[in-house]
Amino acid sequence: MSQPRNAQSSTSAAPRGVICGVCGTESRQQAFRAGAPEQAPDLDLRPGQPVRGTMNRWLQQCPHCGYAAPDIAQAHPAAAQAVGAANFRALLNDASHPPLARRFLAWALVLEETGALHAAAEATLHAAWTADDLGKAELARSWRLEAVALWRSGPALDAEQTVRVVDALRRAEEWTDSATTARTLLRDDPPEAVAQVLMLELRLVDAEDTARHSVATALPPPARRPHVSHQRSVKRGEGLRGWLKRLFGR
Ligand SMILES: [Zn+2]
Repeated sequence: MSQPRNAQSSTSAAPRGVICGVCGTESRQQAFRAGAPEQAPDLDLRPGQPVRGTMNRWLQQCPHCGYAAPDIAQAHPAAAQAVGAANFRALLNDASHPPLARRFLAWALVLEETGALHAAAEATLHAAWTADDLGKAELARSWRLEAVALWRSGPALDAEQTVRVVDALRRAEEWTDSATTARTLLRDDPPEAVAQVLMLELRLVDAEDTARHSVATALPPPARRPHVSHQRSVKRGEGLRGWLKRLFGR
């Protein structure tokens, strides 16, 4: 996805006809381009406002087959198989889950089918964020644990990804696993910014605090992060703050 990195606000083009990459049905969809968040992200890197409040526009969804993706005109060859699978159809029809959460979970299933396990974890975490917003604590907890399982079943995690696992475990009340994961990474002498976030996580675990906290609590400002569509890989050895700074060029 190529998008301007420093756009000042979230923008949407007018809805246009899009041909679904899975079933070929045309529907009207809006393209979403995220602007830069103005507030610091949460410890799990959920962006601050105003991007935080735009989640209902991050993914398109085909009204015919239910395929969900940032751009449904694009589909991995394995996407059709994922969309046709029984678990995908069951998810679409599961009225016990909020519709926006189902959209992110649908995208997660497609990503999992294509073998992109860390991206599937990310999409599952996004479903947890929508549950947070609706006050659905049990759903948020179960999707955080699913996200952690996906992260851990993929390739080795770098320091920043591991911080997100620590945060997801803490917010899911998995105190022991969260603290053990944090201490294991601290023993590896991570970059200073990562160490600061981990120390904060350990204090929160001690207090059995499941609330969201801002990266700004652990790091001096500015700590910003763009929308996931701007995400780039983190260089090894680079601290969280350096990563954020590089993403924003400031
Ligand atoms: Zn479709």
